[in-house]
Amino acid sequence: MNLLCDHMLGSLATWLRIFGYDTFYPNEMMNDKDILQVARNEKRLLLSRDHALLMQAKKSLIPILEIQTTDLAEQLRLILQKIPPDETLFLTRCTLCNTPLHLIPKEELKNKIPEKIYQSHDTFWTCPTCKKYYWMGTHYHHMKERINTLRNNHSS
Ligand SMILES: [Zn+2]
Repeated sequence: MNLLCDHMLGSLATWLRIFGYDTFYPNEMMNDKDILQVARNEKRLLLSRDHALLMQAKKSLIPILEIQTTDLAEQLRLILQKIPPDETLFLTRCTLCNTPLHLIPKEELKNKIPEKIYQSHDTFWTCPTCKKYYWMGTHYHHMKERINTLRNNHSS
């Protein structure tokens, strides 16, 4: 199921993308009406803590998941529980814009990223939309650890 986070859930949206969920996050220009329209048109589950927005969504028969806590780990745990993630999709989506990442030949990155990183990694991805580069560096391993911690806490 594809997701939509409201304006207040930016950190959650980033983490959901890391977990591989297709997650829409509205830009500053979008109002409640625009958000509901995206949810309806793209058949997305609306995640929100905004009661008024959730009520409007309900009236329009848009599926909702009410988030009650402001704690990020709790929010993630709730969603992982309701919609189990596909582990093969971890870290396959741009955290900034939600676009699926593409593999990029290492040679293309020569002089575009720090030399140390270039030398110590062989596999790189790029976001075709915002051109950000990704590799499985320390960030990735920290994320994996945090993900595992979250999952273990959630199952216990
Ligand atoms: Zn991107």
